[in-house]
Amino acid sequence: MQIFKVGGAVRDRLLGKPVTDIDWVVVGATTEEMLAKGYRPVGADFPVFLHPKSGEEYALARTERKSGRGYGGFTFHASPEVTLEEDLIRRDLTINAIAEDDQHNLTDPYHGQRDLEARILRHVSPAFAEDPLRVLRVARFAARYAGLGFSVAPETLELMRQLSESGELEALTAERSWKEISRALMEDQPQVFIQVLRDCGALKVLMPEVDALFGVPQPEAHHPEIDTGLHTLSVLEQSALHKQPLTVRWACLLHDLGKGLTPEEEWPRHIAHEHTGLKLIKAVNERFKAPKDCQELALLVGKYHTHGHRALELKASTLLELLQSFDVYRRPQRFEEFIAACEMDARGRKGLEQRSYPQADYLRGAAKVAREVAVQPLLEKGFKGPELGEALKRERLKALKAYKEAASA
Ligand code: ATP
Ligand code: MG
Repeated sequence: MQIFKVGGAVRDRLLGKPVTDIDWVVVGATTEEMLAKGYRPVGADFPVFLHPKSGEEYALARTERKSGRGYGGFTFHASPEVTLEEDLIRRDLTINAIAEDDQHNLTDPYHGQRDLEARILRHVSPAFAEDPLRVLRVARFAARYAGLGFSVAPETLELMRQLSESGELEALTAERSWKEISRALMEDQPQVFIQVLRDCGALKVLMPEVDALFGVPQPEAHHPEIDTGLHTLSVLEQSALHKQPLTVRWACLLHDLGKGLTPEEEWPRHIAHEHTGLKLIKAVNERFKAPKDCQELALLVGKYHTHGHRALELKASTLLELLQSFDVYRRPQRFEEFIAACEMDARGRKGLEQRSYPQADYLRGAAKVAREVAVQPLLEKGFKGPELGEALKRERLKALKAYKEAASA
């Protein structure tokens, strides 16, 4: 048997990028031989094994044929006769279809090195269209390597468009989609992921609520970029520049969905978009089965981001309601993430990327003041049950009033 490094490990080494996980392909071997050498099978009917020591993935060279809709609709053919070239041709991008042996000799039948140099993301063969997940994968690689100057080949984008129009994207499971989406959002330029999905018509299928924001104007005074879709891309860009966690990036993507529902005659104003957007945010959350912390933050940011921007003008009682809504006493981190998302929203506007955002420290200070109200003295006065809750609220309100006065003095 012959063993080759493939995929990301070869690609990233050639790009001079750090290699994290290594994928291997094994040519000329049978399942029985792999098991005899101590490799552990990954699944019952999938020719992929884990190395007994390193735990890295070793896949038998295989060919694939599509036999139905979605990812389940694949039949694999793995046998010792399948050649390296046959295995490489089923891969998504030419830059991912280069193999390397232990002497560093490259096998590159589909000219991946040429595309690496030309900074092109190009599909290997028409079989690309057999797995709709590849649309998301290509967009994710575009987000990752945009900084190096990569872009999607026009003919690949065209195939992605056909796939998006064919209805195949709807066959993707929430789990597979979310895995790509969440990884893409954590790349250096997550806005490129959304842009590429939009360019090929996939955004309209996957997240029509986000797609609908393009072409919707906002007041120029607050939003020099005017277009709500462009604003959303900028907010996402800021969230990556500021190294925000996934929760914040997800909330950034979805914070303005309500603006897509504003009747045209009300443009460019979007009264109450925070509320109209909530059911859309919920729908997107549920469509991809986003993790609970992502879902929660997206809804809270959607509902309260304008409160964040108006923090310094909020009445003490409104400030208190805001802090209570976030349960800032038990979930201080979540409120920090809310503040971060609001700040990204404020900076994700043309020409305002460097603006200061005093609201952030003001909100942090308010949270601190409210959290510092002690329960013990109230217990000593004999408050308990709902009355204790009320007394605590009164004390916090008092503290916030003092905080607000001191801040405006
Ligand atoms: P990463 O750095 O994200 O791990 P990668 O290219 O190694 O990038 P993997 O998901 O680890 O991506 O897959 C390893 C290789 O398997 C890819 O480079 C590609 O050749 C192939 N591959 C993975 N998923 C698909 C797919 N859905 N369609 C076609 N080829 C795929
Ligand atoms: Mg990999």
